[in-house]
Amino acid sequence: MALQAILARVRAAEALAGRGLGSVHLIAVSKVQPDARVRDVLIAGHRLFGENYVQEAQAKWPGFRAEFDAVQVHMIGPLQTNKAKLAVELFDAIHTVDRASLADKLAKLAQARGACPQMFVQVNTGAEPQKAGVLPAALDGFIADCRAMDLSLAGLMCIPPEGEDAGPHFAALAGMAARNGLTGLSMGMSGDFEAAIAAGATHVRVGSAIFGARSYG
Ligand SMILES: *Cc1c(COP(=O)(O)O)cnc(C)c1O
Repeated sequence: MALQAILARVRAAEALAGRGLGSVHLIAVSKVQPDARVRDVLIAGHRLFGENYVQEAQAKWPGFRAEFDAVQVHMIGPLQTNKAKLAVELFDAIHTVDRASLADKLAKLAQARGACPQMFVQVNTGAEPQKAGVLPAALDGFIADCRAMDLSLAGLMCIPPEGEDAGPHFAALAGMAARNGLTGLSMGMSGDFEAAIAAGATHVRVGSAIFGARSYG
């Protein structure tokens, strides 16, 4: 298990970028990983995890939360509106707010509960047709709509196009967050989290580099 090595690289990248020690949150992306691997990372003391699927998280995390204290789980996969209620109950943050119907549902659920997970807006920085996320040109209006619904936002999230230099996408996302007064930046995965930290990431989402390759049954 490579957790300690990845944590050391996160801390080194923070230092190199002149960022505060511990200012970057390492989200260990545990989707599709065997429970034994997740348990090893919990036993090693890590407490922040990411999941892509509501049902998988529902099966996995109530048990681990009962066994280990202070566990936090972030939703980083696409969220169907009809799973929003479950998601608000299961997750400490949702990184994939990407459309008005979902934002509206989440805002109403938050009001009814009197509590809300941290919300990140997913931005489709590469304007890829097959990819989720608000298009950059529509982002400022979307953020204003969320705020008008009283949905408080923690930041922005992106998944740059595969096979492209991620750096310009990270820089663009940081600019979009700054001009909208948002401080959270969820960006960077196993292959590029150091570049993301250099560009200002506050949350990096690292799966295979910590847990090993995923095997989809
Ligand atoms: C799976 C996934 C990750 C982790 O990817 P790795 O390349 O294994 O680090 C990060 N972000 C999102 C949105 C993912 O779906």
